[in-house]
Amino acid sequence: MATYTAAVSSVVITKSRLRGVVFDMDGTLTVPVIDFPAMYRAVLGEGEYVKIKAENPCGIDILHQIEKWNPDKQKRAYKIIADYEKQGLDRLQIMPGASELCGFLDSKNIRRGLITRNVKEAVDLFHQRFGMIFSPALSREFRPYKPDPAPLLHICSNWEVQPNEVMMIGDSLKDDVACGKRAGAFTCLLDETGRYDTPEYQDVEFKPDFKVSSLVEVHSILQNNFNLTP
Ligand SMILES: [Mg+2]
Repeated sequence: MATYTAAVSSVVITKSRLRGVVFDMDGTLTVPVIDFPAMYRAVLGEGEYVKIKAENPCGIDILHQIEKWNPDKQKRAYKIIADYEKQGLDRLQIMPGASELCGFLDSKNIRRGLITRNVKEAVDLFHQRFGMIFSPALSREFRPYKPDPAPLLHICSNWEVQPNEVMMIGDSLKDDVACGKRAGAFTCLLDETGRYDTPEYQDVEFKPDFKVSSLVEVHSILQNNFNLTP
């Protein structure tokens, strides 16, 4: 008589540990007020803008485009960019759901960091208006900037956490999601208008792990999918 022992396998679903969240600033923590297409046109000129836009259907990396220009031309370009960013600062508004999300992260002792391609002055003003500090907060002065993973890896090492214990949240597929995935972090794309639902974004190299149309949705994503242990 044979005895059969049924192997009882219990599947334990282990949620990934999340110890920190890194945010993009413009268009993620703040309402987009910079008219990027107008800024690109002003920097590049109409002809060059049309040409570069055709070559980069997923978006123009303006800082990269001007990096190889001669110093005079580059100086003029940075001046135009600074003027557009200044106008954006004057009208700066906090993204709906941002304060509540940060309050939730604080209640769980989850770290909060920030990476932006904007300048330090803009980050300082944002901190004043927002009333909560993100640390570290890396601006354009930190090289190389997004979509390079370096700023995110820098924050992880500063926090002494692994990249796969961190989530990068941002509204740019080519900057924020690419930076996050290259670093080995979880990524969440904020797409308020569904602009990334169009076919040209279906075959991109880096896809987000999560996609939301509002920061309000992030709270439940974190609670349902992660073990929130600082
Ligand atoms: Mg952004």
